[in-house]
Amino acid sequence: MVTTLALGAARALSSICYEVTPSADLMTVEVKVTVPSQGQAVDVTLPSWSPGYYVLENYSSNLKDVVAKAPDGSVRPVSHPRPDTWHIDPLGAQAVTVSYTRPVVHESGRMGIFSGDDVTVHYGGPSIYLYVEARKSEPCTVQFHVPKNLGLAVSLDPVGNGLFTAPNYDVLADSPVTIGTFRTAEYISRGKPHQLAVRGSARDRLDMARAVKMTRFITESETDFFGKSAPYNRYVWHIWAGDTPDGAGGLEHASSSQDFLSLAQGPASMRGLAHECFHLWNVKRIRSASLGPFDYTRLPRTGALWWLEGVTDYYASLIPHRYGWYGDDQYYKDIAANIRAVRSNPKRLEVSPYESSFRVGETNDGRGNSNGFGVDYYPTGWVTGMLLDIELRARTGGKHNLDEIELALWDMCKDGKPGFDEGELRRQFVRVGGPEMGAVFDKWVMQPGDPPVELQLAKVGLSVGGTGRDLKVTESPTATPEQKKLREGWFFGKRSRPSALQG
Ligand SMILES: [Zn+2]
Repeated sequence: MVTTLALGAARALSSICYEVTPSADLMTVEVKVTVPSQGQAVDVTLPSWSPGYYVLENYSSNLKDVVAKAPDGSVRPVSHPRPDTWHIDPLGAQAVTVSYTRPVVHESGRMGIFSGDDVTVHYGGPSIYLYVEARKSEPCTVQFHVPKNLGLAVSLDPVGNGLFTAPNYDVLADSPVTIGTFRTAEYISRGKPHQLAVRGSARDRLDMARAVKMTRFITESETDFFGKSAPYNRYVWHIWAGDTPDGAGGLEHASSSQDFLSLAQGPASMRGLAHECFHLWNVKRIRSASLGPFDYTRLPRTGALWWLEGVTDYYASLIPHRYGWYGDDQYYKDIAANIRAVRSNPKRLEVSPYESSFRVGETNDGRGNSNGFGVDYYPTGWVTGMLLDIELRARTGGKHNLDEIELALWDMCKDGKPGFDEGELRRQFVRVGGPEMGAVFDKWVMQPGDPPVELQLAKVGLSVGGTGRDLKVTESPTATPEQKKLREGWFFGKRSRPSALQG
């Protein structure tokens, strides 16, 4: 009865209504999509990729038992003109409801975009929600039919009784879901609720107090970096906990993330979670034009992934250091690890950071690989971002830096504004660092080659010693006071050096 009332409210609120019902054994999920059709034919399509993961996947082959019905329950014809698309003839009906099921893949050893274990189902929206062709911008609702003894975690705006709203399909698809028996914890940061929904083989052994301490630290430090308030109503960390080497990571969303997290919860775990959270600004909102609104039928083409992924990773190291989670030694290890990763790949001499981004869709026989064409844009973007940051600081006597560019891009893209064009990053460097920064940008971003790491680090009083696995970054004994001052500004910005580390 409550559900019927809620669905009635949903239909009054929006035009396209989704219903999600997991089976009692959590082995399948049934979805119904009700579309006002006004008697017109309806085409519904399942995405071929998930934003943030630049790989074409075959989600549509997993949908079973696709059936369409009119409001009176009579069946309507469904054809399947493309592997990802179903065509429905409503035969004059004013609305059609398309129903289908999706089996749950039980993966015991790793986090999946659509996965489960004995007690949970977890999925990302693109792998299960059909969209209505030419109507992705319409508001939608989703009603979850979940037994009262099971939990539900999703960052959409709640109406009540398992009903949630989304302003459009992109937001619906960008809001992953965890259903079942999972561990949960909550914290409030700057007035906004945050939830951890922890599943996975090691969930019962995860130190939840430390997980909350880490995630709260990330939320507060990154929100402080970008401004006063985080750009969402509520946030969900969907965490798969594993007994794996220290580390974390996953897939970013605008008000949540799908993460794996090691029981170790050490520095690499901090960086991994900080990376996914930083993305809710850098890539989900600060983005190239091709990264939202999305074309779900093909991979996007943008030369900015070195910035959107690699510089995100750079800040995922720098911000925990700047705000006191770990000290200089750990940060020097991060710098060295990224330099080693760049130098271990001879393709750096053939493929520029821009090209590794722009051509990622050409890898893997045109299916993409989500880390770059020939060159991995994560460490490459990390090192390139660091070199450019140091260059801005050194050229301007510490007055200007990379943070200003990130914050200017945030001003440009926030509040739902469009993504930037491909020339914007270069324009920003010229604006902040002067006309000569254009040539520097062209050399380090647009052309392949060995980045001048030693030269740049020397400008902030750091030395690089050793090669290969023995490469280390240390403080130079001959650093001048000016170089040390630049380094302090780089590490801590306007903040004073934290007196006590929090890690
Ligand atoms: Zn990322």
